Amino acid sequence: MKIADRYQQIYKQIREVEKQYDRDSGSVCLLAVSKKKTAMDIAEIYRRGQRHFAESYLQESLAKQSELAAFNIIWHFIGPIQSNKTALIARHFSWVHSVDRLKIAQRLSQQRPDELPDLNICIQVNISSENSKSGIELEALPALVEKIEVLPRIKLRGLMAIPKPEQSFEHQREPFKLIHTAVTALNNPDIDTFSYGMSADFKAAIAEGATIVRIGTALFGARSD
Ligand SMILES: *Cc1c(COP(=O)(O)O)cnc(C)c1O
Repeated sequence: MKIADRYQQIYKQIREVEKQYDRDSGSVCLLAVSKKKTAMDIAEIYRRGQRHFAESYLQESLAKQSELAAFNIIWHFIGPIQSNKTALIARHFSWVHSVDRLKIAQRLSQQRPDELPDLNICIQVNISSENSKSGIELEALPALVEKIEVLPRIKLRGLMAIPKPEQSFEHQREPFKLIHTAVTALNNPDIDTFSYGMSADFKAAIAEGATIVRIGTALFGARSD
């Protein structure tokens, strides 16, 4: 199947699942994960109307961004962040989903260029500890939210999570539900973003309140990673 056809299919599925789980139509944003894919691949779905793209590797992303400079793309950074990379990330992205410590948030805050609008931030939560070392524990979230919230030039929007793979729909729903419940309990009016759900589990994520689903493989085909 061509990328453009897969795009139409995923887009349609998102709208259908929104309806099925009583989510407002259009309340879930499709974030196209284009890591390890070419600028031409990106252009193919951009022409169909896709605007939000996500990258995990800074240098690779900057190369594509310059190729696609004439396009009106909203770039999201979703990869692990080393502190010596924050200045470039603060300059070249509109969103960062993978903030997992205060130091990174402070640097992004200090380094966001004056001429750009506030940088949108999500805190990465480690919801299935055995799976990945990235992200903070859910219990540590309230304290980090409090410290990040007050920083200038960045805007805390919510959280990002990558649960460990599960086969069944019901098992896929569990970690999303856990996060959604914990974050809703914070009762923080600034938090409006739940960035969870990937190719294999985006339907379960939408059922449990995702507002951004990050989809790579199902759109662009398999990667070599
Ligand atoms: C690669 C990646 C995705 C996309 O995963 P797919 O399974 O290809 O849809 C989503 N989120 C993050 C953080 C990623 O690194």
